[in-house]
Amino acid sequence: MQPPLTPQDHNRQIEGMTYVYPVMSRRAGGLSIGINFNPNNACNWRCIYCQVPDLQRGSAPDINFTQLADELQRFLDYVLNGSFYSDFQVQPAHRQIKDIAISGNGESTSVREFARAIQLIGEIATTHGLFPGCRFILISNGSLIHHSATQQGLKTLHQFNGELWFKIDSATAAGRKLINNCVLSDRQLLDNLTVATGLCTTRIQTCMLHYQEAWSEQEQQAYLDLLSQIKQRQLAIAEILLYSVARQSFQPEAGQLKSVDIDTLNAFANRIRAIGYSVKVTP
Ligand code: SF4
Repeated sequence: MQPPLTPQDHNRQIEGMTYVYPVMSRRAGGLSIGINFNPNNACNWRCIYCQVPDLQRGSAPDINFTQLADELQRFLDYVLNGSFYSDFQVQPAHRQIKDIAISGNGESTSVREFARAIQLIGEIATTHGLFPGCRFILISNGSLIHHSATQQGLKTLHQFNGELWFKIDSATAAGRKLINNCVLSDRQLLDNLTVATGLCTTRIQTCMLHYQEAWSEQEQQAYLDLLSQIKQRQLAIAEILLYSVARQSFQPEAGQLKSVDIDTLNAFANRIRAIGYSVKVTP
């Protein structure tokens, strides 16, 4: 018997696998099968709320495709035909695979042969009859979408009706430096978002939090202005996913971060809706 899986439990070693891990997802309301291309805990950003321990700057290592395929097939067999749900004491109401989420301990699109990996995962999920009932999600900071290899991966994702969750935590370069510790110009962000929306279904994921001047009224207005600009450009944004910090950050700023309460999230969501977007708030 294993300890129960809870939404707080994001232990990526739970099955002793390198690439595949289960999460009871508070966003999805069921089992999310996570795929981690970054077992080296390397990312090109360093978000102050990042929950990856020992995060380092860098890219994902090359994938062992035989191992990835073996792990995913074994895990799906364990869930679909084995005793996974009872072993992990998953509540009956949550005993369904809601999504396969490529969400690594770093930026997933930094891996070489990104499109091949998406293809492999999509084919295995198809063989196991997961689609269309299960979503296929790529969670990304969106910073590498100007690379043709990333674009090829997004096209492949689209072939499986997959979707991209594109991170925007600030509409200003200074805000992104403060929150994400990245250097990303407004123009690059908009260019990458434009390319992404042309290739696959795209949702914007945004984490509001209290930390210094991040999400000041000025920052909030800049974010709304950016969304208005995106609307004017007629970029197809399926939804805005708005949430706050819910789990322990492993970054030095952890002690200075405070989550934003649900009333504030809802109030800001209404300002976004007034521009014409669909918004999903997760406390
Ligand atoms: S982009 Fe994701 S993995 Fe990278 S530092 Fe930010 S939260 Fe962590």
